[in-house]
Amino acid sequence: MERYRLYIDATQCEPASGEWFTSDNPFTGEPWAQVARGGAPDVERAVQAAQRAFTTGAWPALSASARGLLLHRLGDRLAEEAECLASIEVRDNGKLYSEMHAQLGYLPQWFRYYGGLADKIQGSVIPLDKKGYFNYTRHEPLGEVAIITPWNSPLMLLAWKLAPALAAGCTVVIKPSEFTSASTLAFARLFKEVGFPPGVVNVVTGFGNEVGAPLVSHPLVRKITFTGANATGRRINEQAARDFKHVSLELGGKSPNIVFADANLDDAVNGAVAGIFAATGQTCIAGSRLLVQDSIHDAFVHRVVQLAESARMGDPMQKDTQIGPITTRPQYDKVLSYIDIAREEGATLELGGKAAVRRECGNGWFIEPTIFTGVRNSMRIAQEEVFGPVLSVIRFRDEDEAVEIANDVRFGLGAGVWTSDIGRAFRMAERIQSGTVWVNTYRAVSYMSPFGGYKDSGLGRENGIEAINDFFQTKSVWINTGAPTGNPFVIR
Ligand code: NAD
Repeated sequence: MERYRLYIDATQCEPASGEWFTSDNPFTGEPWAQVARGGAPDVERAVQAAQRAFTTGAWPALSASARGLLLHRLGDRLAEEAECLASIEVRDNGKLYSEMHAQLGYLPQWFRYYGGLADKIQGSVIPLDKKGYFNYTRHEPLGEVAIITPWNSPLMLLAWKLAPALAAGCTVVIKPSEFTSASTLAFARLFKEVGFPPGVVNVVTGFGNEVGAPLVSHPLVRKITFTGANATGRRINEQAARDFKHVSLELGGKSPNIVFADANLDDAVNGAVAGIFAATGQTCIAGSRLLVQDSIHDAFVHRVVQLAESARMGDPMQKDTQIGPITTRPQYDKVLSYIDIAREEGATLELGGKAAVRRECGNGWFIEPTIFTGVRNSMRIAQEEVFGPVLSVIRFRDEDEAVEIANDVRFGLGAGVWTSDIGRAFRMAERIQSGTVWVNTYRAVSYMSPFGGYKDSGLGRENGIEAINDFFQTKSVWINTGAPTGNPFVIR
């Protein structure tokens, strides 16, 4: 079994504990790699390395343009490694190779975009109300940043944080999910190769309480950027608040995908099915609440069920597989328990509702694509994030009721609207409380477009120009150009 070591100060190293844990392949249910079990001493070494790199040596001496060039080079190397890294991710998280390969093929753009942005960050000269002073601002990097990622799209969610952090001139310690650490460690090896100074990027693998917690509370860490579950995000936010650290949080969702009777229904059926069953429902933006207008409800649901039923499940490495396994055993148990909850709450099962026992699924953690109708928005299956292939269908009468149902949830990450009425599209986009609204499409993301949550779905934005500002602090500089400095004790 291949061993994945920690990456600290540009060196692959053994964990202080001398211990390793296994990473399991969700398709076979078998361990396939050994990963270093980091702990507080490794966190200490990594943060110290990040601090040295931030304050001394080559990194702070680089011009912003030179930093940008390094990010470009990294993007180019990442493009060359896309196939290899995608296969590692599939072994770790069981998502389709076709999806992970496409994702990895797109990721270099994050490093190129923020590499290009690095030398376009400018302070400003303030036209003061006072004579005799020159006042200007500088945007300075925050310092050592902790990046904590989940298991569903390890390298993509890492790139969203890492590219702007490095472009801003910060240094980082990365803590990937204990379920999917291997691709981050394999990716980290590229940094030395393309010329990043030691200590700028460090990776400490291990468990949340053993690595994540000491990292968040480390006094030298100035910012935490986190993607993961709400409960963890809350804990991190509370800890960070005690030490006045900056925090960005990308958390859960319970996104409404809203289909009006006037929509192009062929597209809407595809969008509804892709919205929930892509990535086996394990995405924060899963369109897990399908809101369907009364007049088309039955016929539309029939078509959604038919399409979902036709999906081929199996080995995620195979080109023709359309739905892969659930990434982790605990997540598999959680999804099945939500299916029981939905039944107990009185929702009507239209499809699936059980573990998938099919020859092509082997011993993997598979669950049948599951669709419930008759769901009321107050039910737990409509309010809580399942993070799996479970769709709740809810009826609505008109635009007002659709908005009311869409917003009646503590999350606000994504929302889909399917309509051919342009006025309605604009009205819905304005009224829905959500960080992203897609009209006649679903799940589109780009390095150029801000992404983040309203309400309990998070704090801050990733992607787009504004994301880099989260890694700077602004300094105001006053220069006396001739104002008298009077005796403070003379009363005028
Ligand atoms: P999780 O919160 O369990 O784990 C995420 C990371 O936090 C892991 O690396 C974990 O080890 C670490 N962690 C755990 N306890 C910690 C602690 N006390 N201190 C510091 N770090 C700690 O989440 P998960 O199960 O890996 O991911 C699934 C969740 O992520 C879902 O709820 C999903 O909605 C969310 N998610 C959100 C987005 C988004 O952009 N909004 C994207 C993907 C996933």
